[in-house]
Amino acid sequence: MKRKIEKVLIANRGEIALRIMRTLKEMGIRTVAVYSDVDVAMPFVRYADEAYPLGGAEARETYLDIGKIVSVAKESGADAVHPGYGFLSENSAFAHEVVKHGMIFIGPGADAIKSMGDKTEARKIVSGFGVPVVPGTKEPITDLTEARDVAARIGYPILVKAAAGGGGKGMRLVHEESELESSLRGARSEAKSAFGDGRIFIEKYVLGPRHIEFQILADHHGSVVHLFERECSIQRRHQKVVEETPSMALTPQLRMEMGEAAVNAARACGYTNAGTVEFILGEDGKYYFLEMNTRLQVEHPITELTTGMDIVREQIRIAEGEKLPFTQEEITRRGHSIECRIYAEDVHNNFLPDSGVLKALREPSGNGVRVDSGVEAGSDISVYYDPMIAKLSVWDLRRDQAIEKMLRALNDYLVVGVKTTVPFCAFVMRSESFRSGKYSTHFVDEFWKSDDLQRESAATERLDRALIVAAARLSRNESQWRVTG
Ligand code: ADP
Repeated sequence: MKRKIEKVLIANRGEIALRIMRTLKEMGIRTVAVYSDVDVAMPFVRYADEAYPLGGAEARETYLDIGKIVSVAKESGADAVHPGYGFLSENSAFAHEVVKHGMIFIGPGADAIKSMGDKTEARKIVSGFGVPVVPGTKEPITDLTEARDVAARIGYPILVKAAAGGGGKGMRLVHEESELESSLRGARSEAKSAFGDGRIFIEKYVLGPRHIEFQILADHHGSVVHLFERECSIQRRHQKVVEETPSMALTPQLRMEMGEAAVNAARACGYTNAGTVEFILGEDGKYYFLEMNTRLQVEHPITELTTGMDIVREQIRIAEGEKLPFTQEEITRRGHSIECRIYAEDVHNNFLPDSGVLKALREPSGNGVRVDSGVEAGSDISVYYDPMIAKLSVWDLRRDQAIEKMLRALNDYLVVGVKTTVPFCAFVMRSESFRSGKYSTHFVDEFWKSDDLQRESAATERLDRALIVAAARLSRNESQWRVTG
């Protein structure tokens, strides 16, 4: 059944709220923001046609409060809700409540969210459709003897993972049996406190791993397509920092096979709307399903830059009941795209989150440069939420040119007031490992944690900072500078 969407509440904040609203405006759809007390002065609040306070600062009393958000949505007259990523985006109860109150949830059905949100359940469902999963257990592990047996069977190293996992939480790498008991205990308690669900399971640790994921789109008429892959192997704490597409690790044959597996994984759970199927690719060229993210991903811009598509627009159209306007064969891509996540973090201190007021900010621009930012000079980067403040993406015809463009853009990026991941991202772009395309998820451990390199990079950063402050003072009156304080 087709139903035109006229007004959307965005149940999110920061860069992703802005990114979603931009497309909604292009489509002539009214935008409704919700915000916490801490976010009252943030750009996304002003950008919305209407904005409502949620009252409170903590995520659980604001962006995670289903009751408050649904009642604001009703009060505002919104006919649909977009959850963005994080917060309630993969909460099936939220999707259910939105629909129960007569609104459209811009995402998959509550059932698909629920089954893919449980990693053990997801493993069972997709393997039933012939999608390879990492060797390990399909049921949660309950006792130590069982864990010992499974680990011995699949062989160390193994990973202990949370069934309800996300963001790398509740995950432990176990090299040998002597570490097993404490790892199980640690993973279980971390999972319990992070997700309120202490169920854990065991997976073989894939060696020389690369994280390769496929963007998929599925409409309500049975059509499912993929928009190719994204490689997200540059990670810290099992969380992504740099992504690129195409991946240097895939041959055309492997790309085709994995794309088909991704589409099958989506079909296996009756998926609709945009989603991402994540795989781990071993150094032996074998790939396995990791999980499905039932929402828009942080790194979706690089797919948009290479395919020319607006994934949020497709999400809205699918939610309205439209058919996908293209077949798999009609989807093409061109050139190369890289994204760097700009987090407020101290890259020289184990990527510890940083907070504070942005005293000065100049974001890069130019041909093939896209900045999805949630902040402006004067913004307060609080400790309450995820420390990602912006995403910098570039596009160029060739990969080597895209890398040079990213380096140039990172150099142009001036942030004064908080430490950021900019120096780390520049380090990645300069590294031989990244340039050669032969890198794995061990990049940070193998290269960044070497003291010499860190010292070298820290020295450059100090110099950069001194220049930035001096430049900011000199340029106070230039319009491209937004300087406060
Ligand atoms: P989360 O949902 O917490 O993000 P994932 O299952 O998506 O957890 O895994 C996050 C990251 O952990 C992956 O991108 C990869 O770097 C690493 N990882 C996960 N499973 C494996 C595995 N079986 N072998 C090697 N690395 C893995």
